[in-house]
Amino acid sequence: MPGRLLIFFLLLLVSCQKSSREKPQDTPKTAQSQVEIPPFSADSAYRFVERQVAFGPRVPGTDAHSKAADYFVKRLETFGAAVTVQEFDQTTYDKTRVRLKNIIASFYPEKKKRILLAAHWDTRPFADEDKDNPNRPMDGANDGASGVAVLLEIARALNQAEDPPPVGIDIILFDGEDWGERDRRTPLPPGLNSWWCLGSQYWATHKHQPGYSAYYGILLDMVGAEDSQFFREELSVRYAPSVVDRVWATAARLGYGRYFVNQIQPEVLDDHKFVTEIGRIPMIDIINYDPAIGSFGPFWHTQDDNMDIISKETLKAVGETVIHQLYSEEPGA
Ligand SMILES: [Zn+2]
Repeated sequence: MPGRLLIFFLLLLVSCQKSSREKPQDTPKTAQSQVEIPPFSADSAYRFVERQVAFGPRVPGTDAHSKAADYFVKRLETFGAAVTVQEFDQTTYDKTRVRLKNIIASFYPEKKKRILLAAHWDTRPFADEDKDNPNRPMDGANDGASGVAVLLEIARALNQAEDPPPVGIDIILFDGEDWGERDRRTPLPPGLNSWWCLGSQYWATHKHQPGYSAYYGILLDMVGAEDSQFFREELSVRYAPSVVDRVWATAARLGYGRYFVNQIQPEVLDDHKFVTEIGRIPMIDIINYDPAIGSFGPFWHTQDDNMDIISKETLKAVGETVIHQLYSEEPGA
C-alpha cells in the first residue's frame, strides 16, 4: 500500500510540476504537490570549505582541530540539530596519543526511519604523496573539508526547508580517518581493524544511542574537486547495491551523469567499511576516483589539495543528489 501511495504521489508531483512550468501563475497546487525539496546552495557549501581551510589543517592534537570541532557543533546546533560529541583517546600507528571527537547531529529525532550521512573532518598530519613537501600537512580542502561542507550545507538547507524530508536524518562527522599507515606494517592492537578510520571504528562499537540503526548510510569523501568522477565503488555495491542504483539514478535524473559514472571502481578502505561491517548499517561511499591513475586524483595527500581545486559545481552535484535522494524516500512507520 505505501508503494502505491508513493507512486500516486509522485505522479501527482510530476504532473503538477509540469503544469506549473507551463502556467506558473494560475495552476492551483494540491496539498500533496506542495512538498518542496530545499535548494542546495553551491556558494554556501563552498564557503563551508573555505571556513574549514581557514582554521589550518585539522590535524588531531592541534589548535585548528579543536577550533574546528567547536565550530561544527555550533553550526549544527544553529541549524536545529541535537548534537552529541563523542570523545575518546587513541594511539596512532606512529605512537602519537590523540584525543578524537566524532560529532553527531540528529534531525527529526521523532522519525523512526533514519538515513545516516557521514564524512570525515580530520586532516592527514602529513602530505606524504607530495614530492616536495611530504612532512607538512596539507589544507585538506578536498580530503576532509569538502564532504563536511556538503553535509553542513544539507543541514542548513534542512533547517530552511518548507517541508521536512520523509525520514529522520543523522549526520556524523568522523574524526581520525586519515592518520593511517601507508604501508600497513605496524601490528594492530586488539580491538582495532585498521590504523585508518579510527573514528568510525570507535563509533561502530560505541554508538551514540544504544541500539542505534539506520535504513542505510551515505559517506562523502573527496567530493569537491573540479571534474570529479564518482564511480560505483565495489564495497558499496556489495553492501548496498540498491542504494548505489538509486543514488546514481537520482544523479542522472538531475543531469549529473558526468560526475556519477556507471562503472565499477575497486574497493577502498574508508569509514563505510566499519559502519557496515561492525555497525551493521549498509553504507555506500561517494568518493572521487581517477581511473587514469587508479587513485583519488593527482592532488590526493599532496599540498595541491587546497582551495584551488575546489569547484562549486561538483559540490552542488553531490549535495543536490543527496538531498533529492533523502526526499525520495518512502516515509517510515
Ligand atoms: Zn585522506
